[in-house]
Amino acid sequence: MGIRSRILVFQLIVVGAVVIMAAIVYITIRSTTYYTQRVQWANNQLEAVTALTVNANRYSEQIAEFLLIGEPERPDYESARAELEAGFEKLAQLTRGEAEFLGRSSEQEDSGDEIFRITRMRTLYGEIAKATSDAINLRNQGRQEDAVRIFRRDIENRFDAEFENILEAARRDEEEEVVRTELQAEALWRRLTWMTAALALAAVVLCFVAAFLLARSLMRPISLLTEGTEAISRGDLDHRIAFDGRDELGALARRFNEMATHQQDQRDRLLNAKAELEQQVAARTAELAAANQRLTELDRLRVQFLADISHELRTPLTALRGEAEIPLRHGSKPEAVYRDALERIVTQSLEMGRLVDDLVFLSRSETDTIRFEPRRTDLVTIVADAVHEGEILGRAKGISIKAAYSTRPVWITADAQRLKQALVIILDNAIKYSPRDRSVNLSMTVMDGHAEIAIRDKGLGIPAEEIPKVFERFYRGRSPRASRQLGSGLGLAIAKWLIEKHRGEIALTSEVGSFTEVVVRLPHADTTASADANAGAAVAVLKKRLRAKTGSE
Ligand code: ATP
Ligand code: MG
Repeated sequence: MGIRSRILVFQLIVVGAVVIMAAIVYITIRSTTYYTQRVQWANNQLEAVTALTVNANRYSEQIAEFLLIGEPERPDYESARAELEAGFEKLAQLTRGEAEFLGRSSEQEDSGDEIFRITRMRTLYGEIAKATSDAINLRNQGRQEDAVRIFRRDIENRFDAEFENILEAARRDEEEEVVRTELQAEALWRRLTWMTAALALAAVVLCFVAAFLLARSLMRPISLLTEGTEAISRGDLDHRIAFDGRDELGALARRFNEMATHQQDQRDRLLNAKAELEQQVAARTAELAAANQRLTELDRLRVQFLADISHELRTPLTALRGEAEIPLRHGSKPEAVYRDALERIVTQSLEMGRLVDDLVFLSRSETDTIRFEPRRTDLVTIVADAVHEGEILGRAKGISIKAAYSTRPVWITADAQRLKQALVIILDNAIKYSPRDRSVNLSMTVMDGHAEIAIRDKGLGIPAEEIPKVFERFYRGRSPRASRQLGSGLGLAIAKWLIEKHRGEIALTSEVGSFTEVVVRLPHADTTASADANAGAAVAVLKKRLRAKTGSE
């Protein structure tokens, strides 16, 4: 039941109690008035009967005096008669009035008796009046004695005996009626007093119970709501109001719970966002720390690099100075000595030039100023070009390159020149660190999303502990046979940088005295180029090879 309905019921109970109380008061006033009026009627009648008794006596006396004294007493006699008749009339009026007042109640029977009694008194009075008239006539005729006899027999006796009796009975009745009415009024008063007290008590109890129930039905949800608001203001967003009434407060509690859920969601979202933000800050901090470490490392490398460069340049410069100083010492020499010295100086300068080129390349790679021109190009063509250059390099040692790959184009985005440079560096190593007249194998496998180029030689091999270092700048093999070869230890560092610049990977596996294999892995766009493109690429490869062959011979 809704609060409005409950308040309405409570109001109805209170109004009902007030109406009942008002009804009781009304009944009390009405019955009081009724009994007061009844007593009043009875008293009036009693008074009238008493007056009638007095008047009857006076009338009787006046008759006697009139009969004895004669005409002088007539006015008194007439006056007494008129008063007696007026008394009859008054009593009759009162009796009728009372009968009307009582209405149809059982008391009306008494009124009927009274009216009958008045009729009898009037009849009696009529007979007495007739006897009086006879007596007066007899007296007027001078028959005083007859008149007195009639007076004694028919007037005085009847007054004393019959009339008095009727009046006495009437007075007794009225007195009884007054007493009876007063008793009835008292009984009714008692009843009404009890009834009023009981009903008032019942109304008070009913109002109290209704007020208690109403207050209890309102207080519990209100205290739960108060608790809820306090909990939320404390920040306890998990708090829910355990009240699910169907009234307005129940609806309020439900809205409150919905609001708390909404707040909780928002808080969770904020906390998540905060945690995410913290994570991001931590990640950025870690990145910054890593970048900082890289910078420190780069700085260290730069110092190292400078030291290495100085060292690497000093050795060939010392050799160069030595080559120039020897023929200049101890006078003039034959021309062949000078020529020989100059040839060695040229070889040394070439080697130094190569070293300087590599150094320039690496320093540019550091500052990211190497020009890259990536474009969609066929990897097969690049590999073919590299193989061709490898063959030229291997010729001096009688080393051939055995290439195995499909001529079907493999499209990649690359700077062809730079990618070929990386492959040639690997082929150069394979040739350089292989005994004479061996062969170097190159194979290319195309897989889903990437291509793998493997270059394998059966040369010196690399000890396991040196493998992780071969991609470092200036790192050169420690074995005497490897270090006998010319080189500055920059080749693989440059190749790695170039492959990674093409979003590729490079890996080296080796076994001393057995083999060395370098695998380059590159992402490619697709392998399903059109037949025209296939044919075009194949023709381009063949043309290049032809040109290279004719050029080298
Ligand atoms: P550069 O290439 O600068 O002329 P380098 O060949 O010595 O000099 P890298 O190409 O960087 O330098 O190679 C580093 C070292 O790795 C070499 O000195 C060599 O010891 C070892 N190495 C590289 N390739 C091979 C190989 N195919 N077989 C055996 N050892 C190799
Ligand atoms: Mg090398």
